[in-house]
Amino acid sequence: MQLPFYSSFDEVRAEAAMCRACGRADQRQQVVMGAGDPDADLMLIAEYPSQTDDSTGQPYTGPAGEYLDELLAFAGTDRSSIYITNVVRCYATESGRRGDRIKPSTRTEQHACSTWTSLEIQFVRPRVILALGAPPARVLIDESFELTDQRGTWMTRPDGVEVTATFQPAYAMRMKSHDPDRAREIESHLINDIRAAVARSNATPPE
Ligand code: SF4
Repeated sequence: MQLPFYSSFDEVRAEAAMCRACGRADQRQQVVMGAGDPDADLMLIAEYPSQTDDSTGQPYTGPAGEYLDELLAFAGTDRSSIYITNVVRCYATESGRRGDRIKPSTRTEQHACSTWTSLEIQFVRPRVILALGAPPARVLIDESFELTDQRGTWMTRPDGVEVTATFQPAYAMRMKSHDPDRAREIESHLINDIRAAVARSNATPPE
């Protein structure tokens, strides 16, 4: 994919803030671009912003963000050392059986937003990407990626960035009230996977 030229990351962010390339633009308050260290070696990529993120303009805020902060601390890192973004940058809802819920991202929306995903990767230049959940893993690794079988498997993208996937922290948090044992299991995998991604991003590259 030929990316548009921007001379600075600020220019990218200013242009993305006005994006209306997919239907999610109609429901958002604001575009939620990534946040964190713009020179981070580790980038976390989730699926979409939450309602809280839509208000704050920052990714992974609110209760899910607090939970992510706990997981990062257990894994030996924090937000100031990494960069966090999503594969779609606008909050949207749809009607479900129990009322409105966050609209999962479609392939069309992910594709429309991939310009910003690629530009964030290009400007931050992480050594390692950790996808949070299957939808971002399918965008970043392979369309047929299955979290159950391939979680924690490392691959190298054509741009040389190493990438793997783990659970979505918000999923683990929701699971706590339904199935505490399973939630504990997922949480343990999450901490280990984040820790492995931190270690890999800090490792000395081969000569
Ligand atoms: S989700 Fe991405 S592509 Fe769609 S309008 Fe928002 S910023 Fe643009």
